[in-house]
Amino acid sequence: MRPAVVDEICDAILSRRRFLLTSHARPDGDSIGSQLAMAYALDALGREVRIVNADPAPDHYREFPGLDRIEIGPHSDADADALIVMECSDLSRTGVTGLDRHFIINIDHHAGNKMYGAVNWFDESAAACSEMVFDVIRALGVPLTREIATHIYLAILTDTGSFHHSNITPRTFDICRQAVEAGVNPAAMARRVFDSNSFGKLKLIGALLDSMELIDDGRLAVLQMDDSMLQLCGCTHNDTEGVINLPLTAREIQAVVFFKIGANGEVRVSMRSKYDVDVRMVASGYGGGGHKNAAGFTVNGRLDDVRPEIVARLVAAIQQGLVTRPGRKDEGRSSKFEG
Ligand code: 5GP
Ligand code: MN
Repeated sequence: MRPAVVDEICDAILSRRRFLLTSHARPDGDSIGSQLAMAYALDALGREVRIVNADPAPDHYREFPGLDRIEIGPHSDADADALIVMECSDLSRTGVTGLDRHFIINIDHHAGNKMYGAVNWFDESAAACSEMVFDVIRALGVPLTREIATHIYLAILTDTGSFHHSNITPRTFDICRQAVEAGVNPAAMARRVFDSNSFGKLKLIGALLDSMELIDDGRLAVLQMDDSMLQLCGCTHNDTEGVINLPLTAREIQAVVFFKIGANGEVRVSMRSKYDVDVRMVASGYGGGGHKNAAGFTVNGRLDDVRPEIVARLVAAIQQGLVTRPGRKDEGRSSKFEG
């Protein structure tokens, strides 16, 4: 049984002709995949579709179908009968102005969604927003083409941290099964998304891991980077994508925080964690958000002033996460498999 709101979304779509799609600034695989899957589905229904994003997609997404359809800019004056916002807990996450005058359909899986649309579907249990987009597309009766399936799968592959996060359910695999039946090649997708690094990025990974700090008996890893490190390795900010997941491959490490200091002094903070260690709670304390195992925020002010407090909150989150997982306290020190 699908939620009634899915039918409301279908009615809202079927009774309209011109659509504007958007998602969050600094797009990731879920924002790209959700938007383009929706765009191809609306094409199939003969609708007019425009897509606007504040920032371009990271390089390794550019060869996926339809990326050239995304218009990049801080403002939109597009005329549309409806705006479909995917992956955004509030409208300001888009980083695009001029959107609030539209009839808004809000589809999202981030805790704390502000329900800013005329129609709102918020489902925190979805492993990726594209799981929800998939349900809408199927409810619309649109066949699962290879393009649509590719974007649905891309979003799930990346938003689950390559099937590592704790938000994966049977629904996730059921959707992936259908995507593979529709022609998606999981091996090729994994290679394209995760094995497309430049040599510069490998150097950057080396430099970041070399300077990584370990805290709380190695349960917390801290990565820090500024523009001079990027320049030294011949990289751009886009090359940092995915690097944060590497420390989690060490058995002891339960959480990672990555401080990225921009040229203008702005500090972006990304966090990742395992199992029940809740980094979203830490992010929301600083005006950010995300999910239990992947969250982020922007520091207002000097990093040095807030860094000790952020680290302390992460150590507390790790302790809390391990408390709710008795038997995990000695993660990395025991050879017993507790799956
Ligand atoms: P990332 O570390 O890849 O930038 O983000 C991880 C997760 O946290 C994503 O789901 C992303 O949408 C969310 N996130 C990152 N930064 C922010 C932020 O500043 N505000 C909110 N609300 N969510 C964020
Ligand atoms: Mn997502």
